[in-house]
Amino acid sequence: MLNSPEFPLPTFRIGQGQDIHRLVPGRRLILGGVEIPHPQGLGLLGHSDADVLLHAVIDALLGALALGDIGQLFPDSDNAWRDADSQKLLQQVLDLPSLRSCALLNLDCTITAEQPRLAPHISAIRSSLANLLQTDIRRISVKAKTNEQLDAIGRGEAIAATAIALLWTPEATP
Ligand code: MG
Repeated sequence: MLNSPEFPLPTFRIGQGQDIHRLVPGRRLILGGVEIPHPQGLGLLGHSDADVLLHAVIDALLGALALGDIGQLFPDSDNAWRDADSQKLLQQVLDLPSLRSCALLNLDCTITAEQPRLAPHISAIRSSLANLLQTDIRRISVKAKTNEQLDAIGRGEAIAATAIALLWTPEATP
C-alpha cells in the first residue's frame, strides 16, 4: 500500500461535519455566532446554545484530523456544557495542539432552513466565522437553502448545517 511510512500521506486533510437542531419557542437562534431573529420567535434547542452551524464546523475540523467528534469532546451528559457558548467550544477545538499547527485553506458551509430567510444574514455569518477562525473572509463560504417544504426542516421544525474544511498540516500526518 502507498500509505506506509516510506510514503508519507499528503499534508492536505479534508473534514466534513453536519448537524441538526430542533426549533422551539423560548430559545435564541444563533448561527455561526450570529443571533438571528425568527419570524415566529423560535430558536434552536440543545444542551449548549445549539449553534448548529458552529457544531458542523467543529466536526469538520475534528474530522479532518480524525480527532473524533463534538459529542466526544463536549458530551451532553456533562453539565459543564449546558447552555455553553459554541464560540467557546470552537475556540477550545482550535486550541488543540494538532489543530493549532494547521492552516485552514477554506471552509464551505450550507445551512438548510425554511425560515427565517437567511440571505440578509450571510455576510454577517461569514464575517463571524472568519473572525472566529482568524482567517480571511474570502476563505469562508456560507450558503443557505430551504428544504422545499419537505420533511421536518421543510415544516420549519428544525435547522440543519453542513461544513467541509480543507486543512494544511506542516508535516506528514499518519
Ligand atoms: Mg449540535
